[in-house]
Amino acid sequence: MTAPTSPSGRVLIIGATGFIGRFITEASIEAGRPTYILVRPGSSSPSKANAIEILQKKGAIVVHGLIDDKSLMEAILEEHEIEIVISAVGGEQILDQLSLVEAIKAVRTVKRFLPSEFGHDVDRADPVEPGLAMYREKRKIRRLIEDHQLPYTYICCNSIASWPYYDNRHPSEVLPPLDHFQIYGDGTVKAYFVAGTDIGKFTMKTVDDDRALNKLVHFRPPCNNCNMNELATLWEMKIGRTLPRVTVTEEDLLSVAAENRIPQSIVASFTHDIFIKGCQVNFSIDGHNNVDVSSLYPEEPFRTLDECFSEFAAKMGKKVHPKGEVAAQNPVMEAIAIAAMCS
Ligand code: NDP
Repeated sequence: MTAPTSPSGRVLIIGATGFIGRFITEASIEAGRPTYILVRPGSSSPSKANAIEILQKKGAIVVHGLIDDKSLMEAILEEHEIEIVISAVGGEQILDQLSLVEAIKAVRTVKRFLPSEFGHDVDRADPVEPGLAMYREKRKIRRLIEDHQLPYTYICCNSIASWPYYDNRHPSEVLPPLDHFQIYGDGTVKAYFVAGTDIGKFTMKTVDDDRALNKLVHFRPPCNNCNMNELATLWEMKIGRTLPRVTVTEEDLLSVAAENRIPQSIVASFTHDIFIKGCQVNFSIDGHNNVDVSSLYPEEPFRTLDECFSEFAAKMGKKVHPKGEVAAQNPVMEAIAIAAMCS
């Protein structure tokens, strides 16, 4: 049995300058944890340098290194007495975590490891290629962790709250459409959407929670369970006008996936799995090693899609009403029932 993590346990985040890693790092600092971020030597683009500086100003402590350097990682884990390791390396670097897992095994002082997951349950979901290849790699990391009996939590946070563009792996970085919607299939298959800040916040809650030890933690906020048609209507409410809808068929998505352009084809294969096959909603959370994050923290609200889409609208310089809607210019638009808070 692993010793419990302490509320002040030191956290090492790998991939802190990345899309998901930034949310996790901000949440770790916000939670008051000593937060170390591993920065690759030489990753010095102006935007990365700026991201690192912002995190440092907030309190993150930078250590330099590569996760595939096992002996260096052992030294970092020991020297800084790291209790919690969270990896958010990107899809191309999943197997770089093999050495990191070996380093964690060697030092024996890490009380929780969260590998780079932050999507679907990769053992359950079965996307077409090339998404499947990434899942095989994530599965390989899982099996190594389990074989070594390391204490883990796998975060299955589903989709990021944004318009789910089929060719953009970081869709929340751009606005929802302003010219026309591309609707996958008939637009009725539901998915779960989670704000990036909530991915960070709830991930950090699990790291010292015994109930999340050696568990898959699923993020399924009931109020953010939405299909493409509902999402389009929500955005139309925010921008105050309707947009044409164009159908992207199952065959269209499969042919983009088959082009094998990385990362666009990987995103297309996941889009197919989510919005055609229903991979986020076609199973119930059961079994002793699965837990719904909402059941762990029932009092803790999720940001709603309504709030997230208001934020997108605000970024466009639209005037947003206190309740979140832009002044309606089209009276025929129907409000869809999305609760103001989601807990
Ligand atoms: P990014 O590509 O945005 O960021 C990757 C980060 O990892 C960067 O900070 C990069 O550093 C760092 N990194 C990569 N290799 C190494 C290494 N060898 N040593 C140290 N640091 C390294 O990743 P994403 O945020 O897109 O992906 C993270 C995870 O989240 C993935 O598992 C992905 O599948 C998942 N995901 C989930 C989404 C969702 O909607 N649920 C959306 C997007 C991703 P550097 O700055 O040097 O490049």
